[in-house]
Amino acid sequence: MTATHNTVSPYPIPTLHADNGELSLEDVPLTQLAEQFGTPSYVYSKAALTAAFDAWQQALSGRRALVCYAVKANSNLGVLSVFARLGAGFDIVSGGELARVLAAGGRADKVVFSGVGKTRDEMRQALRAGIRCFNVESAAELERLDSIAAELGVKAPVALRVNPDVDPKTHPYISTGLKGNKFGVAFADAQALYARARALPNLHISGIACHIGSQLLDPAPIAEAAQKLAELVDRLATDGITLDHIDLGGGLGIRYQDETPPGVADYLAPLLKVFEGRTEELCFEPGRSLVGNAGLLLTRIEYLKPGETKNFAIVDAAMNDLARPALYDAWHDVVEVVARATPAQTYDVVGPICESGDFLARERELAVEEGDLLAILSAGAYGMTMSSNYNTRPRAAEVIVDGEQAHLVRARETIDALFADEKPL
Ligand SMILES: *Cc1c(COP(=O)(O)O)cnc(C)c1O
Repeated sequence: MTATHNTVSPYPIPTLHADNGELSLEDVPLTQLAEQFGTPSYVYSKAALTAAFDAWQQALSGRRALVCYAVKANSNLGVLSVFARLGAGFDIVSGGELARVLAAGGRADKVVFSGVGKTRDEMRQALRAGIRCFNVESAAELERLDSIAAELGVKAPVALRVNPDVDPKTHPYISTGLKGNKFGVAFADAQALYARARALPNLHISGIACHIGSQLLDPAPIAEAAQKLAELVDRLATDGITLDHIDLGGGLGIRYQDETPPGVADYLAPLLKVFEGRTEELCFEPGRSLVGNAGLLLTRIEYLKPGETKNFAIVDAAMNDLARPALYDAWHDVVEVVARATPAQTYDVVGPICESGDFLARERELAVEEGDLLAILSAGAYGMTMSSNYNTRPRAAEVIVDGEQAHLVRARETIDALFADEKPL
């Protein structure tokens, strides 16, 4: 780390800083990245990824614990390899994500597999790889997993994902632990399902899991869920069912705008109190909090379009690159890459896609001219992984900055590749 990183960044991205009115991520100016790799490009900071992971490790030091990075937040092999080298486990939701983890050097025996719709093929793939645990989300999945394990002559390690019915007080689309959700098994049914799991000969009961939602800013709901899980674990023990791990899922929020999320240690403190004196390994599945503020989307202004009621800055990134604003009305800070003396005006920052929902930010004060670069901040989580090819737009390049180095970790898609698997009738 260089001296520039020792000052507290005014930006939500800790390794982003302005020198003489020009933004750099770690020691690489964003203008240089735009020249080298083009726009739009996702750019991640290795130091920020590492610092975010270290914060989790430190908060859990002295506990038997495993931090399983939730791959769906950002599944680039470069990002996964950084976490694999730091000793992370991984939380996956598909066979595709398992393949990515293994290709990036991650260890199968540190992988937990979540999701309500695991296919037979995905179960076979995960059993052959030897993953740590299946987080099972229904009675039917339990039966299916038992039969696939029998077919392969192995025992499948399982945890039941229970639904603790606590309100995480977050956006309804990303709250997952309430009764009306498709996720997990009902808390009241869990004990009977564990009994059923014990009766199935090809399952090994390993743990219990929950995940109550995303972008949580308050430690209370997760501590409440932890309390409910601990009580259930004790009830299972009286049935003779002992668990070796308790998985609390992910969900810790980050600052996008003016949120004040707790630090990892503060977030975990009430939860760790619940588990004081217990010996089970604690697992966590953070996604957003590990990558969200390690990345930005770099884009260039194609046109400025003044209007009667609104001014538009039309950029070369769009809702296909970053869906969160269109999908959740999410806020991302937008900053000029090179400061200008021109007076600021209010703009909606929009993409070229033929949808009114194609905006990245609304009503922002920006001092810009056509051709200027903008950085859309806090875009490291659920950015690239939710991107699409809508409007036959090639997906963005991805770059990891490490000190003065910039590594292209995903080349910009080519237009040919977009329809290489299609043919005219
Ligand atoms: C999405 C998800 C996570 C990660 O959530 P974040 O809010 O990004 O930390 C963890 N576990 C499960 C089961 C998930 O579906």
